[in-house]
Amino acid sequence: MSFKTEIERRRTFGIISHPDAGKTTLTEKLLLFGGAIQEAGAVKNNKIKKGATSDFMEIERQRGISVATSVLAFLYKDKKINILDTPGHKDFAEDTFRTLTAVDSVIVVIDVAKGVEEQTEKLVEVCRMRNIPMIVFINKLDREGKDAFDLLDEVEQKLGLSVSPLSFPIGMGYDFKGIYNIYEKNINLFSGDSKKNIEETIAFDDIDSPELENIIGTKAAADLRDNIELVKGVYPDFDKESYLAAKQQPVFFGSALNNFGVRELLDCFIDIAPSPRAKAAEERTVQANETALTGFVFKIHANMDPKHRDRLAFIKIVSGTFERNKPYLHVRQGKKFKFSSPNAFFAEKKEIVDISYPGDIVGLHDTGNFKIGDTLTEGEILNYKGIPSFSPEHFRYINNADPLKSKQLYKGIDQLMDEGVAQLFTLEMNGRKVIGTVGALQFEVIQYRLEHEYGAKCTYENFPVYKACWVQAKDKNSEEFKEFKRVKQKFLAMDKRKQLVFLADSQFSLQMTQQKYPNVTLHFTSEFE
Ligand code: GDP
Repeated sequence: MSFKTEIERRRTFGIISHPDAGKTTLTEKLLLFGGAIQEAGAVKNNKIKKGATSDFMEIERQRGISVATSVLAFLYKDKKINILDTPGHKDFAEDTFRTLTAVDSVIVVIDVAKGVEEQTEKLVEVCRMRNIPMIVFINKLDREGKDAFDLLDEVEQKLGLSVSPLSFPIGMGYDFKGIYNIYEKNINLFSGDSKKNIEETIAFDDIDSPELENIIGTKAAADLRDNIELVKGVYPDFDKESYLAAKQQPVFFGSALNNFGVRELLDCFIDIAPSPRAKAAEERTVQANETALTGFVFKIHANMDPKHRDRLAFIKIVSGTFERNKPYLHVRQGKKFKFSSPNAFFAEKKEIVDISYPGDIVGLHDTGNFKIGDTLTEGEILNYKGIPSFSPEHFRYINNADPLKSKQLYKGIDQLMDEGVAQLFTLEMNGRKVIGTVGALQFEVIQYRLEHEYGAKCTYENFPVYKACWVQAKDKNSEEFKEFKRVKQKFLAMDKRKQLVFLADSQFSLQMTQQKYPNVTLHFTSEFE
């Protein structure tokens, strides 16, 4: 197969949703279509259950699972599909944001009864900002839920999307009869009462045909005709270019659990979803079909086994081919590295591969050379953009609880920060270290891992911070900036990349600071122009 064909047949995407909307179930059904797994239940749900916060075994177990399900790949109709796992739990939102830098498109799963939920809003916003093409799947149609039009409205209002329904439900919950597929122009009927299987798929070019009454009954037929007329009147026709430009989002309805509407989703997905896209580096934009390898690290995962201290760095290949034992330039370190056992991911397994293509993810064993955001090339100096840090939500001082182990503690902190578990800020005034996390859970994870993987002990101390803001000064030599630094010294810190950060203790003080120093801009993410 030619290099060009290999690129064109790849689809690398993520499924995003609020926990419990059905992401795991949908992933599993997709894998079943690819023949990648034989039975249901093979894909583990890696969400942290409520109440398990202090259960370290649980955390460890979850970490193990999330390595296994970080990337799930399968073949379907000759397409190579890579699903990147995106944790739904809000404490791991940052992990998900980073993974979204490595996908070429996403599927958004929404629960028909709950509608648009909080995590969905946040994640979709990130995708919208990055112009990632999105398909929406409204799930659990076998249950009573919101009216389909109300839901479409909600998706447009709350998520800021512009939808084009490609299927439409016939009834819902108890009265759910099936789905009219606008994209394929056919009807899928649910069987009898059990609603467990698709009874038949009937091609139906013309829903005005009197045949419709015979199949779904007079009332349902009339409702469907009205609904489709309304859909056509209100929503724009599907336009692939608009979808690819992230200006329009097609919508499907179905039930993942009953495997209903999933094949339609998948068939449309492989048809319309983008193959690996070009990606912007600070220096230039790189096209997928360039022959020299480039790629970047979007995730680092520590080995579960403390005896093997190595980690797995996940690289998204942007261009060229990644070959085993070929030297590649680690741009930040300015050094070449060879990898004798790069891992590829298939179904729920990983295996050593000789060659990988754009869109693929390779897992590289690493003893501490990689950080999230690092770029690999064949020699070109390139730095991929787009893995910003976001302001954490929780902040605590971290103290060394065992003076004899301070080396281990600092090494541990350093490596955990490279993995992106949390962010470290060093106060300008006294050099004290502050850890910032997205969720409270991470503090326990860090403490546990420092002890078990590095033999170091830490304690925490409260540090009331409202938001961490990255500081950008119009003129670093201005009196205004000097005064800002002097007056706010107590609240200034350096992040790991030695960027200056202002730790605002309240929303009020943040506002006051902004007013007082109009030429000092405070950003909620570490990436700004
Ligand atoms: P995730 O947290 O988004 O990964 O959600 P899961 O896939 O774990 O699903 C959450 C719950 O919803 C599970 O109990 C599923 O069995 C159930 N579920 C998923 N899809 C459907 C569906 O189509 N219909 C119904 N009734 N339940 C579903």
